[in-house]
Amino acid sequence: MGSDSQLSASALDMSAYWLPYTPNRYFKKTPKLMASAKGAYYFDTAGHQIFDGISGLWCSPIGHGDPRIGQALQKQFEKMDYCTAFQIASPDTFTLAKRIANMAPNGLGKVFFTNSGSEAVDTALKIAIGFHKVSGRGDKFRCIGRERAYHGVGIGGISVGGIVANRKMFASMMMNGVDHLPHTYNLSQMAFSKGQPTWGAHLADELEKLVALHDAGTIAAVILEPMQGSTGVLVPPEGYLQRIREICTKYGILLIFDEVITGFGRLGTTFAADRFGVVPDMITFAKAITNGVIPLGGVIVRDDIYETIMNHGGQEQWIEFFHGYTYSGHPMAIAAGHAVLDIFESDDLVNRSKSLEPILEQAIHSLKGQSKILDIRNIGLAAAIDLEPIASEPGKRGMQMLEKCLEKGALVRISGDTIAVCPPFISTEAQITTLIEIIGSSIQELA
Ligand code: PMP
Repeated sequence: MGSDSQLSASALDMSAYWLPYTPNRYFKKTPKLMASAKGAYYFDTAGHQIFDGISGLWCSPIGHGDPRIGQALQKQFEKMDYCTAFQIASPDTFTLAKRIANMAPNGLGKVFFTNSGSEAVDTALKIAIGFHKVSGRGDKFRCIGRERAYHGVGIGGISVGGIVANRKMFASMMMNGVDHLPHTYNLSQMAFSKGQPTWGAHLADELEKLVALHDAGTIAAVILEPMQGSTGVLVPPEGYLQRIREICTKYGILLIFDEVITGFGRLGTTFAADRFGVVPDMITFAKAITNGVIPLGGVIVRDDIYETIMNHGGQEQWIEFFHGYTYSGHPMAIAAGHAVLDIFESDDLVNRSKSLEPILEQAIHSLKGQSKILDIRNIGLAAAIDLEPIASEPGKRGMQMLEKCLEKGALVRISGDTIAVCPPFISTEAQITTLIEIIGSSIQELA
């Protein structure tokens, strides 16, 4: 026994493993098993090469198996494989926090480490509520999310998230006092937009309505993905985020950007905040910081929020913030983070992401006009296509597309009948055009 990545589907006992976010029974009848990965490719157990059109799960911009990350991990393992972050710490954790803070917008200078995006989101919500509480504004506890938002699977994240399937089974566990802004997607106004749609900034004024409904004195924070990734690359309308920022500032509401997907170059700038020219009060990150090799996430926090919590409104506290994880600041993850930032610098990867945006944009929009395509949209190195659902079987065309693209040698992301791609930053122009050709021919064959 033990692990053997060459085990074929027929020889593999699949009964014990419960796959996340996957139709388990269907998967076990039609298994898709990957044996290895290198650069921009997976290799399945039958030996087929598959282009990783979704950078792991938005998390591997450097592609797979970069030896520089492996070497850093080996070195760290020999030096120190684990060190708790409770009461003691490794120096490298401080230096990574500083590096990340230096990359963040001005004023966001403190970093709290978590292990995942979900934990980063719940941590950010706790910081927001805790900040108001120690400032004598204990009534400010409401958190505002957005329809169609994905903020992970913690209780905070599903509460402020806006995906009904993630919420309905756990309705009894939801956080108190959460409300949602409308999403900004409107097919009739923005179909086939390239980059930011020009329609929709006015939807930010819905926040004023929530303030009028609840009173600003009860609202702690608004959390938004600057670009909604998991629900199909929904790009913020021009001016929308600026307006949200103005309203938050006016009412003393903290603005959290969930940059788990957009952080570290996906939109051609280090953070989406840079691209859109809007500075939030906190940024959550995960995924690309370690290239997906080891779990690591975190929250970048405005300096004065940290200082306020440290001072506890003048009331002396021994421990300032009762929150943290066994694996917060895990030395192996921190080593991966340093190695990844080194590679981003030496290989100029944020600029590489930026330079590939027009290639992806041009390629994907060239599919416009094909039957069954309702919309195509893109920003940065991310794009999505909405397909017409098969009548009475929503999601079926999406699953057929996943399988057809795999057959043709490319992995795409499906959510319902939406197909998303976010290729690695190391992709060549030819790999991106081939990816889109595979998607185009798959749509045609399935139509
Ligand atoms: N926030 C956003 C914006 C995400 O896209 C994701 C994951 N795709 C998460 C949070 C959750 O991250 P994780 O899966 O690492 O918990």
